[in-house]
Amino acid sequence: MRIACLGGGPAGLYFAISMKLQDPSHEIVVFERNRADDTFGWGVVLSDETLDNLAANDPVSAERISKHFAYWDDIAVVHNGVKTVSTGHGFCGIGRRQLLILLQERARELGVEMRFETDVQETSVDEYRREFDMVLAADGLNSRTRQTYAEHFKPDIDVRACKFVWLGTRQTFNDAFTFIFEKTEHGWVWAHAYQFDKDTATFIVECSEATWQAFGFGELNQQESIAICERIFAKHLGSHALMTNANHIRGSAWINFPGYSASAGASITWC
Ligand SMILES: Cc1cc2nc3c(=O)[nH]c(=O)nc-3n(C[C@H](O)[C@H](O)[C@H](O)COP(=O)(O)OP(=O)(O)OC[C@H]3O[C@@H](n4cnc5c(N)ncnc54)[C@H](O)[C@@H]3O)c2cc1C
Repeated sequence: MRIACLGGGPAGLYFAISMKLQDPSHEIVVFERNRADDTFGWGVVLSDETLDNLAANDPVSAERISKHFAYWDDIAVVHNGVKTVSTGHGFCGIGRRQLLILLQERARELGVEMRFETDVQETSVDEYRREFDMVLAADGLNSRTRQTYAEHFKPDIDVRACKFVWLGTRQTFNDAFTFIFEKTEHGWVWAHAYQFDKDTATFIVECSEATWQAFGFGELNQQESIAICERIFAKHLGSHALMTNANHIRGSAWINFPGYSASAGASITWC
C-alpha cells in the first residue's frame, strides 16, 4: 500500500513507523513543512501506561526514548508557600526536539521516506488522495486538512478559558512534576514545571483571562511577558531565567488550550 502522512510530528512519524512494522512492503512518505530539526516548545510528558504501550508496539524506539528521558514518580503542589507532595504517579519527560529526532531516525531505518520543507496546501490534499492509497492527516492541533474536510470530520473544538504560555528554564525540578500557585496583584498565576533533560525544564505559566487582561499580557511582546513571569515566580527560579523558543511567533505567545473531538472518534487533549 502507498501511504502519505501529512505532517511529521510525533503522530505522523509514529504512525509511519507502526505501519512499516506491520508490513515492510508499504511505501510510506511523510510530508513535513519544517526542517528536520526545527521545533517549538520544550518537553513533553509521557505516562507509564504510554511507555508500556510504546514498548509493546516498537521496543526499539521505546528503548531509545527511555534512554533520553527524565523520570519522576511524585507530583508536588506549592500553594501559599506550602509544598504538598503525593507519590505514585509515574511519568517521564523528554525534549520534543529529541523525541522527533529519535522517531525520524527510526522511521528512516525502517525505510520511511521523509520530505521536509514541504508545505501541504489545502488544494493539494486531493492530489495526494489520487496518488496514494491512504492519506493520514497528522498536521497537528490547527490541522488544515481537518478544516478542509470539516464537513466530514465535523470537528468540535472547545477552547478553554485560561491563557497559558510555554516557556523553559535551567532551574531544575528533578524531584517532582511541580505545580506552583502564586497570588499576584491581578489574581492567581500558576506554573506547571517538569524536567525533561538533565539541565532543562518546561515551565508553563497559566492564568485566568481576567488576570491575563489585567497584566496586559496580550499587548506585551514575549520578553516583556517573561520579565513579569520571572518576577512572579522569582523565589522558585533561583537565579535562573525563563526562556522562550517561540521566537517565530510575533507579539504575545499566550494561547488557550483547545479540547478537540471529531465525529470520526479521534481526539486530542493535553495530559
Ligand atoms: C504547552 C503544551 C504542553 C504539552 N505537553 C504535552 C505533554 O506533556 N504530553 C503530551 O503527550 N502532549 C503534550 N502536548 C501536546 C503535544 O504537543 C501534542 O499532543 C503532540 O505534539 C501532537 O502531535 P502531532 O504529531 O499530532 O501534532 P504536532 O506535534 O503539532 O505535529 C504536526 C506536524 O505537522 C506539520 N504540519 C502542519 N501543517 C502542515 C502542512 N500544511 N504541511 C506540512 N506539514 C504540516 C507541523 O509542522 C508539525 O510538525 C502539549 C502541548 C502544548 C501546547
